[in-house]
Amino acid sequence: MADLDVAVAGAGFAGIYAVHAFRSAGLTVRAFEAGSGIGGTWFWNRYPGARCDVESKDYSYSFSPELEQDWSWSERYPAQPEVLRYLNHVADRFGLWPDIQLNTRVTAASWDTDQAEWTVTTDDGASVTARFFVSAVGCLSAYQVPSLPGLETFAGPWYHTSRWPAGGVDFTRLRVGLIGTGSTGIQVAPEIAAVAEHLYVFQRTANFAVPNRNGATDPAWEAGFKADYRSYRKQAQKSFLGVPIAGTGRPALAEPPAEVQRTLTERWQAGGGMPFLGAYTDVLVDRDANDIVAEFMRDRIRETVADPAVAELLLPRTYPVGAKRLCQSDDYFAMFNRPNVTLVDIRSAPLTSVLARGLRTADAFYELDALVFATGFDAISGALNQIDVRGVGGVPLAEKWSAGPRAYLGVAPAGFPNMFIVTGPGSPSVFSNMVLSIEQHVEWIRDCVLYAGAHGYAAVQAKPSAEDAWMAHVTEVAYSTLFPLADSWYVGANIPGKPRVFTSYLGGVGPYRARCDAVAAAGYEGFALDRRLAMSSSVHPQAQLILDGMAAAGGPPIWEMTPEQARAMVTANNEHIGPGPDVASVRDVVIPGQAGGIPARVYSPAPGAPGVVVYYHGGGWVVGSVDGWDASVRALAVASGCDVVSVDYRLAPEHVFPAAADDAYDALEWAAGELADGRPVAVAGDSAGGNLAAVTALRARDLDGPALALQLLVYPVTDCDLDRTSYHEYDGAEFIVNRRDMAWYWDHYVPEPAARMNPYASPLRAPDMSGLPPLYLVTAEHDPLRDEGFAYADRMRAARVPVEHRHYGSQIHGFFSFVNLLDDADKAISEAGATIRAVAKG
Ligand code: NAP
Repeated sequence: MADLDVAVAGAGFAGIYAVHAFRSAGLTVRAFEAGSGIGGTWFWNRYPGARCDVESKDYSYSFSPELEQDWSWSERYPAQPEVLRYLNHVADRFGLWPDIQLNTRVTAASWDTDQAEWTVTTDDGASVTARFFVSAVGCLSAYQVPSLPGLETFAGPWYHTSRWPAGGVDFTRLRVGLIGTGSTGIQVAPEIAAVAEHLYVFQRTANFAVPNRNGATDPAWEAGFKADYRSYRKQAQKSFLGVPIAGTGRPALAEPPAEVQRTLTERWQAGGGMPFLGAYTDVLVDRDANDIVAEFMRDRIRETVADPAVAELLLPRTYPVGAKRLCQSDDYFAMFNRPNVTLVDIRSAPLTSVLARGLRTADAFYELDALVFATGFDAISGALNQIDVRGVGGVPLAEKWSAGPRAYLGVAPAGFPNMFIVTGPGSPSVFSNMVLSIEQHVEWIRDCVLYAGAHGYAAVQAKPSAEDAWMAHVTEVAYSTLFPLADSWYVGANIPGKPRVFTSYLGGVGPYRARCDAVAAAGYEGFALDRRLAMSSSVHPQAQLILDGMAAAGGPPIWEMTPEQARAMVTANNEHIGPGPDVASVRDVVIPGQAGGIPARVYSPAPGAPGVVVYYHGGGWVVGSVDGWDASVRALAVASGCDVVSVDYRLAPEHVFPAAADDAYDALEWAAGELADGRPVAVAGDSAGGNLAAVTALRARDLDGPALALQLLVYPVTDCDLDRTSYHEYDGAEFIVNRRDMAWYWDHYVPEPAARMNPYASPLRAPDMSGLPPLYLVTAEHDPLRDEGFAYADRMRAARVPVEHRHYGSQIHGFFSFVNLLDDADKAISEAGATIRAVAKG
């Protein structure tokens, strides 16, 4: 059994939310974070001027309405320290720290097909096993320093913006060289210029930037969006970028030029990149429309920068605006009017080397005291490729991605079962409001993990054909835009030797979400869901001992026995079980039933029990007794803390259908009326007793009978169809029950085959499942009744009945009753008991 359900690499926005989401779903999770604090990109990128270019009201979690109401952002665009404070607040508020391990870098993760689990290794030499491995390492984490000859000889300090010293850097009276004029360089430059003796900006490619118009949060504005936050978030989910911006909805080329200029000016004045670029529908797909916007922006540079020669160098001309990430700054271009700032064009005269005292270009030498690299990242795949990730057959992820990173839906790489990537290659990720995309991804992954668990699938993996089709779609959409025209990190052009592939999905956040939801609704279309892997661990050794013991005892199969022989055999077998735990009181009662007295036993674990459980033992309606099930019922009473009534209903063939079902229902009415005294009541049972519990719940609903808080069905008989796959898989003599045994039981209980279709015999055939009490279902893998249990859960879910399903991948039919013999019996009873206790306590 794996140490964890989910191991997460990284504790930035994605890892933090993953811990919360998985844990809230009842999964065990641990996030490993290389940093000494949480925050990911917001932990590492603490260079002066670091600021988010998505508005704070959008760049924040939406999963908790209370959180979004309580937290107040001080500015329209939050600065790095504030985002980091916010993330720490989230970790405090939701108590996430115990499941986050700081100062620990994931170095390797490898998939074990036999065990259906990942082994995740960390740089402290430790390793853990986990059923699922989730990468939350981010798209822009692996920073890159260009290999400049002589860098090691530089006499002064040098820094990369993404590893900025926590205590800051004092540039006063220093001559500083800055390499890189992307989003980061543009933010850090004015801050350095404000204090340094001189700043040399080494520019290879001029960049576009729109103003932020940043400012302190206006309380009226804040109150306004908070009043309607929920519906605003819904709009964001459906929007193109994950931020609901209003464009004109028209192409710029169809608009009178003066009108276009007016609209662009308005949006320029308002600030912000998304509303500006999103003003017209054709800007990112038509070069002529793009040129109009680009020229508008070049005009703004010309009117800002005093020296026309410097302005000319700052004009971006080599790529469409937006095709490289649009920068945002209120003060970058004006900075070049300062006397202590020099723009150095390294496109015409490239950098050649670093010397002890400065930088040499092809035509000059610049004397420098400090160097700052704002040279970006090995984006999308870089951080994950730094981990030695190995999938099926030990294939390294880096090898799979040698021609470019890929993943089905941008989440699941084929060949890497049970591995998911938050905002991976093929997802909208960097083309969206990352926080919103992270939430969507994490929730989708969580649901997939839960689905696998509920259906007993040990492994979930993307089919190569689905991955191919998805990535072909991603490429097709990308090449219908102008994005591939730029040498950007979007296509890996900033990393020498990296394959040039466009790997972000440009189809829009809303359509992407719809596609992911449709895949899930279709039972995870495009994924191979593998139950066999669960069976590869075969029958649990403790259960195998029981099966071996029964085989050694010999004797005919049940279906060759008379009912008396079968009862004697089951009674003898049950002697090996138990004893169960002590309870405060046990008393035998006779319940007045419609057809006469029904013997029953009431187990009270302690005075003041919060609820009552009516329990029906298994035994195919033919064998079994309250005595034979004494141990497991005692254990359930203790685990649930509730009074449990164990019912000795009438057996077949002496009493055929519906005798047992009638007794079961009469027992419920008695327990609810005479015993419960207002306390919540649940029905429960295993195997044929599970059938009686399900039928009792149906009848209680149909007859407006006692309200039920829960139905606990343990590998229940839900249908008379003996042709389901699991019946054929376990048609041998070596299991507790097989197909012919079940036919024998049905023949005794409901001799008339047509009557078996009655929903009170085969509850799966009930036309309507709505309005039934929540289902807690226990199933075993090595059990002919396995699939009818799953089918019952599916119908309940379809009818919106809450379902909690625990599937035991190495267990056999009957395991729940083998108290003291099987660890899984004790575990299953204590888990079911805990749920009953919680339900009873409301
Ligand atoms: P970047 O956009 O990749 O910019 C790197 C800069 O370094 C470019 O100007 C590049 O020039 C230059 N460069 C790289 N290697 C060089 C070399 N060998 N010689 C000379 N110049 C070299 O990296 P970034 O600015 O760190 O931004 C990366 C992404 O992070 C952004 O696009 C954005 O998504 C995100 N970010 C966001 C914010 C925000 O929210 N405001 C702030 C910072 C970063 P070329 O263009 O010629 O390659």
